[in-house]
Order: sequence, then structure tokens, then C-alpha cells
Amino acid sequence: MNINLYEITKKSGEKLAISLEIPSIKFDDCTIFSIKVNGFVINNQGRLELNLNINGKLNAVCARCLADIDRDFSLIVNERLTNDENNPEDVYYSNNSLDIQNVVTQAISLNLPLVFICSDDCEGLLAEMPDEEPQNTLLSAE
Ligand SMILES: [Zn+2]
Repeated sequence: MNINLYEITKKSGEKLAISLEIPSIKFDDCTIFSIKVNGFVINNQGRLELNLNINGKLNAVCARCLADIDRDFSLIVNERLTNDENNPEDVYYSNNSLDIQNVVTQAISLNLPLVFICSDDCEGLLAEMPDEEPQNTLLSAE
């Protein structure tokens, strides 16, 4: 979804409200769904600033015990926008158009944990394995 920034580039103080819903975004290790994005872009003395509140539900699998993880996900985004493609610091837009879904996807991606664990005291699958010596009966035949 692209938002048109043309009107607010013209005058400092101009503000453009953003409100959208994204059904789901799939990442390598998890899915974020029921995503609500609310916020605005403001022209702060010629510089465009993006402020977003992102809320959704996170679904993943525990890396230790493989249990399903369902939890709320929320994120605040504060970024400057730039139409200078040589500026790697800020969020790039061109032709007065910003792909807001792409910005949301990138922001979430950068804020996901490296590993999902269902709880701090998850003991994982090993805790459930029977504590027995391996039986090498086949190998012990003479
Ligand atoms: Zn677990």
C-alpha cells in the first residue's frame, strides 16, 4: 500500500494520518497477523518524520520444546524519511510515494528475536526423554 506524501512535503507542520490493517506477514520463523498500524507522517521543518504504532499477534514455535507460541506483538516506529537514495540512515521514498506495508515489514523483521522460546523456564524436549542407558545388545554379540 502506497501513501502519497506530496501534500505534506509542501509545508512544515503538515501532518498525514496513517491507519491500516494487514491480515498477516510471514517471516522465516514466525507469522505476525491481525496487524493494526496507526500513526502519522509529519513535516518537521522540511524533514519528513514517520511515527507508527504497530500491534498484532505473533505465532511461532518454541525452539526448545516445539510448543506453539501465541502472544501479542507491538512495536513503535520512529523514522525519518528521505528521498535521497544515497542516505542509508533513513527510510527511502521516491516520487512522493511511500510503501507503508514494506516499511512495516522491515520494522517488524528488525525487531523479531533471533530465537523464540515459549517461556524463560522452558526445559525443552530433553527434559521429557526417559533417562536410560542406550542398549547396544546387537553390537555386543560375540
Ligand atoms: Zn518451550
